[in-house]
Amino acid sequence: MKLNERGLLVVLSGPSGVGKGTVRKALFDMPDQNLKYSVSMTTRKKRPGEVDGKDYYFVSREEFEKRLEEGKFLEHAEFVGNYYGTPLDKVEDDLQAGNEVILEIEVEGALQVRNKVKDAVLIFLVPPKREALYQRLRSRGTESEEVIQERIKKADREFKLAYKYDYIVVNDEVANAADRIMAIIRAEHAKTERSIHNYLKLIEED
Ligand code: 5GP
Repeated sequence: MKLNERGLLVVLSGPSGVGKGTVRKALFDMPDQNLKYSVSMTTRKKRPGEVDGKDYYFVSREEFEKRLEEGKFLEHAEFVGNYYGTPLDKVEDDLQAGNEVILEIEVEGALQVRNKVKDAVLIFLVPPKREALYQRLRSRGTESEEVIQERIKKADREFKLAYKYDYIVVNDEVANAADRIMAIIRAEHAKTERSIHNYLKLIEED
């Protein structure tokens, strides 16, 4: 029995290279979930294998800035020289339809969501060891040494903001991290403040 019809806005964040994308994909492979991924918009160049409209909406800086002025983003950030943002309208439609919406975003954007959407659930994904993160950033093989160094510096700054999140999940094994996140989503749905209103309505109808 579902007590609240509106879906949860779940922010999956954490330093670049922690494995947010891999964990998110594992979540979507789990049975009995009604998750929707919010495809972000970016001005970054497409990496080999990335698909426009699936991994990101790839746009020019002009296009991004125009949308920004028009207030079309729930949040946005400039990350290592490129813009990234969450298109607002799709998120709202999916939440209204009762889906859990997953945003996979960096820390600055996550904190904007914290201020704008009071009942969003913020999850900070961390590596079991810092070294694992640096290795992952390097092994991607798609970025120059300069960009990798910038991302490492940025990751070190991002770690310090973990205390602003609702939950910290260690990405030791992808399947474990996904299990922990699913447990958080289920528990959040059962929280009294989210479900009491609908429960009272339900028993009145009995
Ligand atoms: P990448 O270039 O590796 O795909 O992404 C760089 C960083 O930007 C990652 O930490 C990623 O999670 C984050 N990111 C992706 N989409 C968005 C978005 O819409 N908003 C924000 N604030 N960050 C995003």
